[in-house]
Amino acid sequence: MNLGCHISIAKGLSNAYATANTICADTFQFFTRNPRGSKAKKLSHKDIAESHELKKKHEIKPLVAHLPYTVNAASPTEKTWEFACKIIKEDLVRMDMLGVEYLVMHPGSYAKSSLTEGLLKIINALQKVFDEYQGKTILCLETMAGKGTEIGRNFQELASIINSLGKPAQLGVCLDSCHLFASGYDFRTSDGLNRLTDDIDNTIGFSKVYVSHLNDSKMPCGSNKDQHQKIGQGEIGIDGILNYITSPGIKKLPLILETPVDNWLEYRDEISLIRQALKR
Ligand SMILES: [Zn+2]
Ligand SMILES: [Zn+2]
Repeated sequence: MNLGCHISIAKGLSNAYATANTICADTFQFFTRNPRGSKAKKLSHKDIAESHELKKKHEIKPLVAHLPYTVNAASPTEKTWEFACKIIKEDLVRMDMLGVEYLVMHPGSYAKSSLTEGLLKIINALQKVFDEYQGKTILCLETMAGKGTEIGRNFQELASIINSLGKPAQLGVCLDSCHLFASGYDFRTSDGLNRLTDDIDNTIGFSKVYVSHLNDSKMPCGSNKDQHQKIGQGEIGIDGILNYITSPGIKKLPLILETPVDNWLEYRDEISLIRQALKR
């Protein structure tokens, strides 16, 4: 099982590889640019060569990136939507150069429009992106907790986007254990877990699921509230987390922790806790 966490690249990507190595992560995620969105750092030949070299050296499989939160492909505001199209395309190309396997994005929020309009906006945005993008990096739509007008609260919404686009090879899904739990899947029980895997099988299919964020939840099941907690310290608990990561479709996925820590070294303990629990 490949297990890692979200790591800051504020001090450069090479520094993030060193961090991953220190905390015994064999995969990690980073923001493609400032999470609030802004100009991206231009990649030099040196950055690109270094990333491929370090990825091989530290056996990082896979490398995952996350788009900034300001990207909203479902926005009814033209300027926001255009910005989303531009950043998705730019960052797919940039991440492809760095050797990133998966680029995660939040599907978006429809705000004052409607779910149908929001879905259409996302489909149009991704159509525009995939008309031009030919790289290897796979864009993954993330399952969301479902607060407000957020799209991606269930697998039907994600399936409708993927199917409308004709199931492009470079488009998939990223699960998030906290978001799934908040959206109503109680995988502390085998019934809840079966419902989750059945729903995936009957909508997007596990062949389209490439990665999962692994977080416990501060909020109860079905609350639609997105608040991550450290593994074993939230409502899901260590047994619920173990149910989730050992279930047939999910156990083959790379897992990325996005739990709240004061110091990144705490991820080393969390990774070791999960690996130990799996041996029980
Ligand atoms: Zn996310
Ligand atoms: Zn979250």
